[in-house]
Formats: sequence, C-alpha cells, structure tokens
Amino acid sequence: MHNVPKLLPSLIQAVAGTIEINADTVTKLDQAIGDGDHVINLQRGLDALLLQTTELSQLEWSAAWQKIGMTLLTTMGGASGSLFGTLFISMSKAASNQTLNLQSFADIYSQGVEAVKSRGKADVGEKTMLDVLVPVAESLRQDATNSSPLAKVYENVISVAESGVESTRDMLATKGRASFLGERTIGHIDAGAKTSQLMICAIVDVLDDSTAPT
Ligand code: ADP
Ligand code: MG
Repeated sequence: MHNVPKLLPSLIQAVAGTIEINADTVTKLDQAIGDGDHVINLQRGLDALLLQTTELSQLEWSAAWQKIGMTLLTTMGGASGSLFGTLFISMSKAASNQTLNLQSFADIYSQGVEAVKSRGKADVGEKTMLDVLVPVAESLRQDATNSSPLAKVYENVISVAESGVESTRDMLATKGRASFLGERTIGHIDAGAKTSQLMICAIVDVLDDSTAPT
C-alpha cells in the first residue's frame, strides 16, 4: 500500500461529503428503528476531524488513527461514537511499528473490528455496523492472502460492503437501541451499517483515484 498520510485530508473530506449527501436517507433509516440522531452524531465527529486535517496529515498512520479515535470518542456521542472511536484506537495499537501494506492493513483493520465486536458485545447477523465492517475485514484478508491487484481489492470491498448493508434489511435487531423494537425492525436497513458502507466506499474512491495511472 502506498504511503498515504498526505491523503488523510482528502479522505476525511470525502467521508464528510458522502454523509452530507446521504444525510436525509440515513436519518430516515435511523428514525424508523432508532432515535434519528445517527447522522448528527457522525457529523459532530466529522466536523471535529475536518478541523484537524492539517495536523493529522503530519502524523504517522498509527498516531493519526489514535487521534481520530480519540476525537470521535470525545465528540460524537451515541453508541456509534464509542464504537467508531474504538475501531480507530484499536487500529492505532495494532499498527504501531508496522509497515503499511495490504497484508498489514488487513490485519490492523481486522483487529480494529474485533475490538468493536468486544466493545459492543455483538457480531455479524445482529443488524449493526458489524454487518458491513466484518465482511470488509474478511474480504481484505482474503485479497491479501491471494495477493490480488489493488483494483480487485477495491472492487471486492465495495461489493461486500453493499451486500452487507442489504443483509441487515431482513435481520432482527438484537443489539443497540433498535433491539427495543424487536420484530418491528425487520424490513429496515440499519443506519450504522449504511454509514459504514458509505464511508468505506468514499475511502476506496479516493484511494483508487490516487493510484490510477494518469
Ligand atoms: P444510538 O443508537 O446510541 O442513538 P447512533 O444512532 O449514533 O447511536 O448509532 C446507531 C448505530 O450504532 C446502529 O445503527 C448500529 O449500526 C450501531 N450499533 C448500536 N449498538 C451496537 C453494538 N452493540 N455493536 C455494534 N454496532 C452497534
Ligand atoms: Mg441513534
């Protein structure tokens, strides 16, 4: 994987942009089976990150992830704040003294996702962000093992993230606020799964552009 700390400002802007564009759609999802604040929580975190882009782009990846995680944890609120915060802080720990390449990133990200599972006492199949985060981790590890070309890695990530979101529709929510509604959650997509997919796809777009031959 290329050395991308300098890409962090573009990555954060792309993530904030896709959440802005899809704010109404996601809010409707969270209103249906949650309390409707997911986008507001996320935007509070992203606004804080947008103010830190210059500083973040001067850090090593591990330190940048630590700072991102702490910022999300302290600004976002909601279940998602502590979960996204945990993801980045755990990625930071896993990344210390590592050279970034596809294999190491797949391991680092997987350790971050494992920490999210422990923190939320949840796993795939419970109608949460994990239904996107986990398949993406599996896809990255698989492509790292196969030494797949980057274009294939990106294509697979986008595809599993999209099917992960869709998979939440027919699930019964057993974790988080949505679980209070029980059977009534069936038929609705989970908001946190949707924003996870949107953010991951925005990141892939930026990375893909940055490696495209000019
Ligand atoms: P809150 O539910 O506290 O209002 P948000 O609305 O910001 O927080 O985030 C809700 C999202 O958080 C859900 O859509 C779901 O994806 C995710 N979530 C909630 N609880 C858990 C959990 N225990 N594990 C993983 N993800 C969870
Ligand atoms: Mg909410």
